[in-house]
Formats: sequence, structure tokens, C-alpha cells
Amino acid sequence: SVRWGLIGASTIARQFMINAIRAQDDGEVVAVMSSGAERAKAYAGENGIARAVSSLDALLSSDIDAVYISTTNELHLEQGLAAIKAGKHVLCEKPLALTSADARKLVAGAKKAGIVFGTNHHLRNAGAHRAMREAIAAGRIGKPIAARVFHSVFLPENLQGWRITKPEAGGGVVLDITVHDADTLRFVLGDDPVEISAFTQSAGMAGGGLEDGAMCIWRFKSGVIAQSHEGFTTKFVGTGFEVHGSDGSLIATNVMTQKPVGSVLLRTAGGEEELTFDREDLYTRSLRQFHAAIRGEGQPSATGEDGIWSLASAEAALQSAKTGKAVNIDPQL
Ligand code: NDP
Repeated sequence: SVRWGLIGASTIARQFMINAIRAQDDGEVVAVMSSGAERAKAYAGENGIARAVSSLDALLSSDIDAVYISTTNELHLEQGLAAIKAGKHVLCEKPLALTSADARKLVAGAKKAGIVFGTNHHLRNAGAHRAMREAIAAGRIGKPIAARVFHSVFLPENLQGWRITKPEAGGGVVLDITVHDADTLRFVLGDDPVEISAFTQSAGMAGGGLEDGAMCIWRFKSGVIAQSHEGFTTKFVGTGFEVHGSDGSLIATNVMTQKPVGSVLLRTAGGEEELTFDREDLYTRSLRQFHAAIRGEGQPSATGEDGIWSLASAEAALQSAKTGKAVNIDPQL
């Protein structure tokens, strides 16, 4: 079995990841670490976790094989390096760190230690996105020309904390959502971005100089251009993902989400077709791949390198917004 320790008594672990671990034949949640002892105990109690600790050392010296890091973003680096040093496999939340240089330290450390390291980019695990990737790879839209990502949401009240108040914790919509769009574009297109131009805004929710809305324009290696919209402040908008090619268009609706929902339409000269796809929980699939990787079978669905790519893209978007210039994306891999 794979015995997991949770670093961070977070919302995402409570809502999705504890269940995803327990959904595996061989997954156990053994311990949780919070920076507050009382909070650790309460969280462990509410979620049926046997061991509650309030220090990283205590967590890492527990009888565990792997850690899931879902603390605020400025903590991922230090906690990740400590877990790697302790020989634990690491599934780390996005963004892997505050800079791509720091993310490279994590990935290099993991490689040297011979442990499995993954980035929790859930959207790669969505049936909708896998169906789009397969359709494109099979040539069903001909040569891809352009993509559009609609990923502006309303940040739920219970999450209106560090994301909109703390630059030092890696707040802001670009590190929160643009990273996912970078990863999903790379996955669906099977292509890497080379350049980005971005406008950001503070539309009334985020303080501390943080952005709560972004519009990005991307150029990919193949020549595909893309646009993406990320936001925290739009209450009545839906999400979507489109790829338009020489012989067809893929139009996916309600797919930039944590749930296995939405639809994918393929439109060609032959007419319209709804693609069918599997509706497995995204995080459960991610965990299954991670467990397989621990057994030496394949890779996590999003690797450390994928996490470096998404963070390097977000970094370039922020730099573009600041300078008013298009910026090259270079993960230095
Ligand atoms: P939360 O704000 O819920 O948790 C982050 C930290 O905040 C926790 O580790 C905890 O610290 C502290 N905290 C949380 N709730 C409370 C509370 N009520 N009182 C005091 N402290 C609290 O963040 P999220 O779960 O939304 O995000 C965590 C990480 O996961 C981020 O890196 C984020 O980017 C990522 N994420 C990824 C998603 C995905 O789908 N891949 C989706 C959502 C988030 P402590 O542990 O010290 O108690």
C-alpha cells in the first residue's frame, strides 16, 4: 500500500484529495500536518486521519511513503525539498514554487533522490481534455490553427483569503489559474508555448497589488496561437476550451473545472458530433497514475517538468503584464 502524509490542512485536500487517495485499492491517509497543533487535530478528527502533527519533521518521520503538499504556494519549495531529502515521493500542488528557478530545484532534487515527483494539474485527467487531445492527434480537425480558453470564474467566498491578499504567499490569478491553462493547452495541443503577451487587472476583489483577472495571448512552437482568460471576479460566465483547425473545430463547454462534467463538440464538413468520454473523478485518476509511477509503471499524469513549464509560462505572463511587452517562455529544461 501507499501510505500518504498530508502537508497542509487545506480545502483542496478536504474536498478532493483525501477521497482520491482512499479511492485507490492501496491508498491510505496516515497523517496530516498543519502549522497549528489545534487545527491539525481538528482537521484529522473531521477527516478520520489517525495522526495529527504540527511540524514538518514530525510528519516526515511518520511511517509514510509519499506526501501531498497543498499549503500556500510560498511553502512548497522548502517543504518539497525536505520531503525529497527524507526519501518520500512527492505530489505537489501548483504552482510548484514562486519561481520556475525554484521549481527546477525541486525537480532536480527529486531526480537525484530517485523518488517520484508529480504536479497536481488535475485537468489532464479530465475525460473531456483527453478526448480533445486524442481527436487532435488523430487528425480529426486537420492542422490546429488557434485555441481559446475560457477560465474566468468567481472565487468562492471561502477561498477569498491568501489568493487575493498575499503577494508573498503567491496569490493572484496568474499563479492560481493561468498555470492550469498553460498545462492544459500543452496537453491538449501536444505542443509547447514559446511566447506570451498578457494584460492583467485588479477588478475589485484582489488587494495588495495582486491581479484578479488576466487575458493572455500565446504562441506555440507549431505556429498555433491561443488566447486565455483567467479571472476571480466574474459571477455569471461559463468555462470552455476550443481548438480550431483547418478541417474542424473542437468546442468544449464547462470543462475548466474540478468535476468530470461538460461536453465536447466536434464540428467538421461532415456535421456535428458530441464526443463521448469517461467521467472518472479527475483527482482519483491522477492518484492512480501516481501510484502506478511509484510501482515503476509510467509517469504521474503531470510530471515535475510539466509543473516547471506551467510556472515558467505564468512567470512570463506576469512579466509581460508588467512590461507591456511580449515575453519568451523558456522553462530551461
Ligand atoms: P487553503 O487556503 O484551503 O489552504 C492553504 C493553507 O491555509 C492550509 O495549508 C492551512 O494552513 C491554511 N488554512 C486553510 N484553511 C484555514 C483556516 N480555516 N484557518 C486557518 N488556516 C487555514 O488553500 P487551497 O486548498 O485552496 O489551496 C492549497 C494549495 O492547493 C495551493 O497551492 C493551491 O494553488 C492548490 N490548489 C490546487 C487545486 C487543483 O485543482 N490542482 C485546486 C485548489 C487549490 P495549515 O496547513 O498550516 O493549517
